[in-house]
Amino acid sequence: MIKKFIKRIFGGKEAETIPVGPVTLGPQEHRINPQLVSPNAVRVTQTLQDAGFKAFVVGGAVRDLLLGVKPKDFDVATNATPEQVKRLFRRAFIIGRRFQIVHVVFGQEIIEVTTFRGASAESAPKDEHGRVLRDNTFGEQHEDAVRRDFTINAMYYDPASQVVLDYHDGIADIRNKTLRVIGVPEARYREDPVRLLRVVRFAAKLGFSIDPATREPIQVMAPLINNVPAARVFDEMLKLLMSGHALACLQQLRKEGLHHGLLPLLDVVLEQPLGEKFVTLALAGTDQRVREGKGVSPGFLFAALLWHQVLEKWHAYQAAGEFPIPALHLAADDVLNTQTEKLALQRKITTDMRDIWAMQPRFERRSGKSPYKLIEHPRMRAGYDFLMLRCASGELDQELGDWWTDFIAADGPEREVLLARKPKGDGDAAPAKKRRRRAGRNKRKGPAEEGAPTENPT
Ligand code: ATP
Ligand code: MG
Repeated sequence: MIKKFIKRIFGGKEAETIPVGPVTLGPQEHRINPQLVSPNAVRVTQTLQDAGFKAFVVGGAVRDLLLGVKPKDFDVATNATPEQVKRLFRRAFIIGRRFQIVHVVFGQEIIEVTTFRGASAESAPKDEHGRVLRDNTFGEQHEDAVRRDFTINAMYYDPASQVVLDYHDGIADIRNKTLRVIGVPEARYREDPVRLLRVVRFAAKLGFSIDPATREPIQVMAPLINNVPAARVFDEMLKLLMSGHALACLQQLRKEGLHHGLLPLLDVVLEQPLGEKFVTLALAGTDQRVREGKGVSPGFLFAALLWHQVLEKWHAYQAAGEFPIPALHLAADDVLNTQTEKLALQRKITTDMRDIWAMQPRFERRSGKSPYKLIEHPRMRAGYDFLMLRCASGELDQELGDWWTDFIAADGPEREVLLARKPKGDGDAAPAKKRRRRAGRNKRKGPAEEGAPTENPT
């Protein structure tokens, strides 16, 4: 505020010698609806301010509030150190080793509290490509603002005074629906190539256009992502896929030439006619669930993204003489091995993926006890949803999906009727084929049916 007055009084010349202060916007200007602010975020900023610290809601939450959208989570920035923050709250946990943040927990909601970071990019240790390796100094608020990625993500909101502090003309970019990197885009991408993915995510999610200077280096710099630790790429990729705008994000990724090297096989998958339809349907379904506030499982999502690669390899192993079930497991191994290198898919996720894939051939057995066993599977719902996608994409006959829909809904006697019904195109030879498959599987590994997830430890 004071700096802004000095700037006003002395004009631009003097202002160059002092750090430029933020533009201050009151409630009449920013028109944030206080109802959209989480009461817990208000509690956190209030408690910190009562203890004599600065505290603001920051980042994505302010951006969303300015857009009139209810933020999905709230981050708070403060000049209190993590230790000082922790002492003020009953349920507060310091997270992270390098740059510590504090999670203040209120039931289901976590407010993430971060101490202002210093602008250390110049002196920070970097790898040979210029990626900042350690960036863990505390700093002043204006420094914290500089090191954020986009102008629209660098605003601070004080719920008590209802004032927004805007350091980089974020409000103008919100109004023009423009995504603009703070500082020199090329340098900012080099420091942290994950920002390349973030551009795509925010542009697609918010429906913003990318400022030309922000867009221009993206293609050339895309290979720098290969240099980022897989776990970070995975985190950003997951945010992208769970954003409720995954389909738009992937289309944007392709447009910006960023799909290569992220999911190494995605491009190939999308170029196969059936694969593209399948992935599109899967992402559209995911987006709809996210927008309806329903849960989405990363395992299901990645299982869908990689399914056509699995299918291709599954067929290839069978063509080479492997039995169907072991062939499917071998295909899953191949695909997961390639992907885990790049994406650091966590164990829980790969286990879910294997489960969903391994269930698929079981849906084709519609006689005896098999359907009853399958229906008891802990991940039956995911497996069934996956089957429905396969039908909807044209990979399988819709009749199979409908049969399972009926079977799930049916009571005991109705199920017997369904089991007795001979599937279309599934002639008398089918049971014999199934017996053969089962014999082959038992010979190799024992009953895959019950042990699919543990059968092939990664
Ligand atoms: P969303 O609503 O999708 O979570 P967000 O803006 O909150 O969007 P986060 O990934 O949660 O995105 O990051 C929170 C804030 O931290 C951002 O708004 C930005 O200010 C800052 N930030 C996050 N990642 C980076 C990065 N790689 N470089 C610079 N600033 C970042
Ligand atoms: Mg966020």
